[in-house]
Amino acid sequence: MPVPTLADAEARLELVYQAVHDDPFWDSLRNPGINLVPGYGQKDPRLCKVLLVGEAPGATENARLRPFCGPSGRVLNILMREAGLRLDDDPRSAEMAADGDDPELWRANAFVTNVVKYRPPGNRTPGFREIQRGKKTVRREWLALGGPRAIVCVGGVAHSALSPNGIVSISTVAGRGWYPMSDDKTICFSQFHPAFGLRRGEHTQKIMTEHWQVMGEMLREALIL
Ligand code: URA
Repeated sequence: MPVPTLADAEARLELVYQAVHDDPFWDSLRNPGINLVPGYGQKDPRLCKVLLVGEAPGATENARLRPFCGPSGRVLNILMREAGLRLDDDPRSAEMAADGDDPELWRANAFVTNVVKYRPPGNRTPGFREIQRGKKTVRREWLALGGPRAIVCVGGVAHSALSPNGIVSISTVAGRGWYPMSDDKTICFSQFHPAFGLRRGEHTQKIMTEHWQVMGEMLREALIL
């Protein structure tokens, strides 16, 4: 199957978000001031290597229409850097290319989205039916992006929605390596949610940093990064 172009991926993603917008299932979350928050990052299937999936937008994400741009996002950015993952091109890319480095090493290589695209009232955890419905949307986003070979479940909700061993608690799998998805081509990692690190403090944040460093090494070993 030919790799979709950037234009194909953009058009397909737009259809995915239009379908969420048109789906009456989500009416219960579409309260005044609540916006659909689409995914963000590298949309070009030739460059998008990893799909990161969080839970649902928070207040900042709802206001800025972008996943993980509030307090959890600041932690996620640091963790992503540890793993060698980028949602945007590294601002030093032009400089690096001028120095003879492969510019692709500095290009955005990941896309981030949430299982649920609307902020649930009072930031409650999405319910079972919302997670099941959201899972279908994430699958369509993954297909639109040309099927990135790795998925990172960021937190327990994404883990329960997407990972083939979602019945196991996040704390028994976070940072413990990858498992194959049912297609046997895509690998899946589960990690603690950044909000958990924020709540628990420095010790937990240090453990999470190590988890993301190890994940980066595994992604390079698997020749995904
Ligand atoms: N938490 C999430 O899971 N997703 C976001 O976009 C922000 C916070």
